[in-house]
Amino acid sequence: MRRATIMTSLQTDSDINAIDHSAESTESRHRAPAADKLRPRALRCKLCGSGFEAAPTAVCENCLGPLEAIDADPATLPTRAEISRRPHSIWRYKEWLPFDGEPTLSLDTGYTPLVDAPGIARRLGVARCWIKNDSVSHPSLSFKDRVVATAINAARAFGLDTIGCASTGNLANSVAAQAARAGMDAWVFIPDSLERGKVAATQIFAPHLVRVRGNYNDVNRLCAIVADQFGWGIVNVNLRAYYGEGSKTIAFEIAEQLGWALPTAVVAPMAGGSLISKLQRGFREFSDAGLVSGTPPRLYGAQASGCSPIVQMVLDGRDDVRPVVPDTIARSIAIGNPADGRFAKAAITQTGGWAAAVSDADLIEGIKILAADTGIFTETAGGVTVAAALALAREGRFSANDEVVLCITGNGLKTLEPIVDTLPESPVIDAKLREVRALVNAVVNSA
Ligand SMILES: *Cc1c(COP(=O)(O)O)cnc(C)c1O
Ligand SMILES: [Zn+2]
Repeated sequence: MRRATIMTSLQTDSDINAIDHSAESTESRHRAPAADKLRPRALRCKLCGSGFEAAPTAVCENCLGPLEAIDADPATLPTRAEISRRPHSIWRYKEWLPFDGEPTLSLDTGYTPLVDAPGIARRLGVARCWIKNDSVSHPSLSFKDRVVATAINAARAFGLDTIGCASTGNLANSVAAQAARAGMDAWVFIPDSLERGKVAATQIFAPHLVRVRGNYNDVNRLCAIVADQFGWGIVNVNLRAYYGEGSKTIAFEIAEQLGWALPTAVVAPMAGGSLISKLQRGFREFSDAGLVSGTPPRLYGAQASGCSPIVQMVLDGRDDVRPVVPDTIARSIAIGNPADGRFAKAAITQTGGWAAAVSDADLIEGIKILAADTGIFTETAGGVTVAAALALAREGRFSANDEVVLCITGNGLKTLEPIVDTLPESPVIDAKLREVRALVNAVVNSA
């Protein structure tokens, strides 16, 4: 019964898709009587500019370009003081998220710590360094909680009762967790070779988990068809316009946590390239709103050398993505054919940043350096970010007065496999004081 209603409403949406987003339709939306009900904003094509009604659709029917949600009316934007009084979550910046009205789900995601990291600053040879620590994101310990929080609200507003995703691991965890809490069904598609921690941290929420033989590219192509067939909200396929906006909240939080100021440089890992392009947009939106002043930060992209198509675009000065077959332990960012590669490369070059790819050995070293200097245990993607920052520093990309933020996007407990075998054996003793004393003496003598 419910499903039939959904299919009908989807059909209607696509029938009226071709209308332009006119001043008149903006006004009628603002006059809508149910002031509190969440209403996803209308969409516009990023390439040809065509306008469309809000719908679970992410592709322009005129040019096949990606759709994105239109901006809020600038007159409705809050001041610093107003934002400061709101609860600590991504929704404190709700005017910059792709909705009007009030969200109903996942209200407590966001506002992760910004951690001072003087040890990393010393290693980079810069004035200051902070870690934006999404390894402790709520509820599923990665930055994907932000994008799922916006997508699941769009799904609910569109009347969809099932969400899903094509995932390299963290998105699977977050979709399964947030769907469980919202009482929605989840269909989660992953490559068959993911880390055990990622699989378990999905299965615990009892979604329909499907392991697909192949890499992320195969999973993603399958999900593009699936989204059309079953009327589901696949968060990073047909809900992508609403999903992607959640990433901007990292930029908003960094600016607010620095006391309404901008860092000079930000280093972020790249998979599909969405996060880094949304960081550019987030910093720009806060500047445009007059909440921060000064030059937007230079954006630096990090990938593993076993899957670095976006880094290659930057190094070659190319705008076309040349797909690769991933071969790296950094599985969460192993996307060989990045959907937003072009926008990621533009964000990097337009801000005056650069990009670096690092080996699997270097990323493991990066995980250990971050742990030693900051007490944060990150996953492989975080190791890529730290190692890439160090590589960029060696290339002379930073200067002594730079203030750098590293985006640490995932938690190390989920990717134990590549780490455990590199750690030392710990001694096993009987519960006897003299055995402890012998160990302490051995440590003292070797120091
Ligand atoms: C998904 C992901 C990213 C980057 O994703 P984009 O597709 O580039 O937005 C970065 N780090 C981790 C840990 C991720 O799971
Ligand atoms: Zn278009």
